[in-house]
Amino acid sequence: MTAGNFSPILIKPSDASAWMSCIRRVWLDKHQPVAAELDGFNRLLSDLGLEHEAAMLAKLGDQYAVSKAVSLEHTQDLMQQGVPVIYQGRLLDEQQGLVGYPDFLIWHESGHYQPADAKLSLSENKKSIQIQLGIYRRLLANDLPAMVFLGNGRVAQLGDEIEPLVDEFITSMRALLDLPQPPAVRYSHSKCRICPHEAVCRPEFEAREDISLLYGVHGKAADHLAQAGIATISQLARESAESLPDVPHLKGSKRKHRAILQARSMLNGEVFQLDKAVLPQGTWVHFDIEDNPLTPNRERHVYLWGFLVPPYDRESFEYVWTNDEASDYSGWLSFLQKMDEYRAQYPALVLAHYSNHERATIGKYAERYGMGNHATVKWLLGADSPLFDMQNPVLDCLVLPLQGYGLKDICKHPGLVNFQWENEESGSQWSVVQFNRFRAETSLTEKQKLQAAILGYNRDDVIATRRLEVWLRELFS
Ligand code: SF4
Repeated sequence: MTAGNFSPILIKPSDASAWMSCIRRVWLDKHQPVAAELDGFNRLLSDLGLEHEAAMLAKLGDQYAVSKAVSLEHTQDLMQQGVPVIYQGRLLDEQQGLVGYPDFLIWHESGHYQPADAKLSLSENKKSIQIQLGIYRRLLANDLPAMVFLGNGRVAQLGDEIEPLVDEFITSMRALLDLPQPPAVRYSHSKCRICPHEAVCRPEFEAREDISLLYGVHGKAADHLAQAGIATISQLARESAESLPDVPHLKGSKRKHRAILQARSMLNGEVFQLDKAVLPQGTWVHFDIEDNPLTPNRERHVYLWGFLVPPYDRESFEYVWTNDEASDYSGWLSFLQKMDEYRAQYPALVLAHYSNHERATIGKYAERYGMGNHATVKWLLGADSPLFDMQNPVLDCLVLPLQGYGLKDICKHPGLVNFQWENEESGSQWSVVQFNRFRAETSLTEKQKLQAAILGYNRDDVIATRRLEVWLRELFS
């Protein structure tokens, strides 16, 4: 503790993201930092963020004299001189234990400076953005609102309304950083698997057989079960649905039974069948889309609508492709035309996909282009829809030795479907990165290579859903 009763470790605006995600991560980031390399997708996001910042810098530079700050002292000098815009200013308040580097400090006629950040986000309502800008306001110690140059060109203002959130963040951070040990938390599959501290935390979760490692068991349920004396996966595996107490997020005999089987499956690798998998009759066409969330207006652009038709070999892959979002509408119309062709060719068509993303995307496109009453759209989304989400029979009928029930989790597992993608690195975020490289590439040969790689990945995705179908039919239907 310092004389001011604060942790000697400075709190930065960028700590907000980790704090929102996991309080243990905040502690580890500060006390046991690991040098984590950005993956391709996060590098792309970072590059786009820097491009946006550079565009804002150029825009401000057209209107005002801009000075780049190179140190804390230099920032103070520039502020005392009253220069119109300070780029990359550096602010520190040791008393409060805060440090921050706003993208821009903009002189205001009141004689004070307003902080401003360029953000790719389309909304200023994200808590992490509000905390970041709120910290800059604390460091500047004036009443002026902070500005956010959003990804769609809108300029948002954040004022006193964000103060309670900033107070909560700073108070919580100070308490966390003063802890001698990292705080105990529960496992979260979505957060932990992409966290740079996974190598530290995971062995600990596994050593104590933490119940939150199980798919479908919420951290809060694990807390309550521990209070009831059921603290490990082995203990849970020995329970029955009748003996297990009702706890938040784990109520009702069906959910409890599933959690107990999940514990047994995790311990011995066993697959449990809860019910017979009912798969629709007809001609199956497997369907998977690739979409780019990083468009200028953030409306997801489907650049690839991919299909696997009978007889389901590598040559049975068909697709609709568009080069960029300018062709978004024509790609959507080509997709609808393809649907009409399949409907004519296969009267009992089953359009099989994994998870709700494909159906939801068709709904969004219909809304985007005001085509909710289009005959093909009505058929695709109506009561007799050919769409069939294969995740439903998996979740309804099976308990698998997995922590996630995504397509790749199930298909790549050697004891389950055991289908391996040709390109081991590929994935949906990988595909977005390749597509953005494709867009930026000027060499035709390189463009063709990138397109071929993306098509190969999507082809493997639809072959995987076909393999999953066969696996379900042979073993569980
Ligand atoms: S691995 Fe999980 S528990 Fe550990 S710091 Fe990261 S998110 Fe938190």
